[in-house]
Amino acid sequence: MTPKSWVESANGDTDFPIQNLPCGVFDAGRGPRCGVAIGDMILDMTEAELGFEPVLFAEPAWNRVMEAGPAKWLELREKLTEVLSDEGYRDKVEPHLVPQQGVTMHLPFRVAEYTDFYAGKHHATNVGTMFRGAENALPPNWLSIPIGYNGRASSVVVSGTPVHRPWGQIKGPDDDLPRFAPSRRFDIELEMGAVVGQPSQGMVSVVQADEMIFGYVLLNDWSARDIQAWEYQPLGPFQAKATATTISPWIVTRAALEPFRADAPPRERPVLPYLRQEGPGLYDIALEVGLAPEGGDETVIARTSMRELYWSAAQQLAHHASSGCPMRVGDLLGSGTISGPTQESRGSLLELSWGGKEPVEIGGGQTRSFIEDGDTLTLRGHARGDGYRIGFGACTGKVLPAAPLPDRARE
Ligand code: CA
Repeated sequence: MTPKSWVESANGDTDFPIQNLPCGVFDAGRGPRCGVAIGDMILDMTEAELGFEPVLFAEPAWNRVMEAGPAKWLELREKLTEVLSDEGYRDKVEPHLVPQQGVTMHLPFRVAEYTDFYAGKHHATNVGTMFRGAENALPPNWLSIPIGYNGRASSVVVSGTPVHRPWGQIKGPDDDLPRFAPSRRFDIELEMGAVVGQPSQGMVSVVQADEMIFGYVLLNDWSARDIQAWEYQPLGPFQAKATATTISPWIVTRAALEPFRADAPPRERPVLPYLRQEGPGLYDIALEVGLAPEGGDETVIARTSMRELYWSAAQQLAHHASSGCPMRVGDLLGSGTISGPTQESRGSLLELSWGGKEPVEIGGGQTRSFIEDGDTLTLRGHARGDGYRIGFGACTGKVLPAAPLPDRARE
């Protein structure tokens, strides 16, 4: 028997049944505050007196709950499950429910630092083939190291935030010199983000790393391919990926995803002991990307699964800490683009259109090689259980034209 909630909308077609209970920050007109989604409602955690220390919800971010540690995370989940399923709590709790419709969502946590990995083998192979040729597609270290780069926490924005097409230095293969211009190959990357909920100082095992993860979000690593192609050697992406990184508004906790644990693909090369993971490290989360042109209907342009990743977030985190790099509460780890083996399961337009050679049909007679101004890109994800689904809510962003060039940047 699937547990039910007295919040009726939580028992129907929803991303947020009682098995989910994701953590967000909402503003219903009285300022941003912590809330938990249930059906089409949000439980206001600053007012629902559930017996937890008020300091946990004293600021509009889930960092303090994360700092309180895994025992508190479990206690909170058990309490929420109890009060939202047991009709006896209804009179006490219902006054603190707010409709999701009409609220403004904020970032669910203060992002301490942001690191982006490159853990999808199909993606790495596709991009490597386009940038360096099929013989050198996968870098020699790729099967041994969860490769990543340090990104910018300041670039992380919540779903719904518009994104301006970036300017940047671009040099095409036939250009003698680079020019400074708006990107013409602006793209998405479909990723999962792991939210680090506990700090570390020194090395951690993969098991410890897994227990440090509070939850997951959807993540869109907006990427300017023309800027990237010119700048990325030898130190990796820089301005190509610094414009914005959009995350979904709800952190789906690791506890909610536990029933959906899934094995990573078989190792193609032995993994060093500090990166070995016993048991399933991924989750069976179906993912999709939708593209809606200005004033037009959305077309789903890609469908894939988190199971296509080669390295888990726990392995990425263990590697991140392996040099002694201190990890902080609120660190965000992007998984890397998640592409599957087929054409329609590719998690970026670069791959979907194969560098612009095979434009993607989006309905209404339109095609896309890369993003056009006015396009809205939306990531969605869910794990499907028996009679319910654990969803993340939409991770969406509309692309606006490049901002006017300041006078000082003109020639
Ligand atoms: Ca990325």
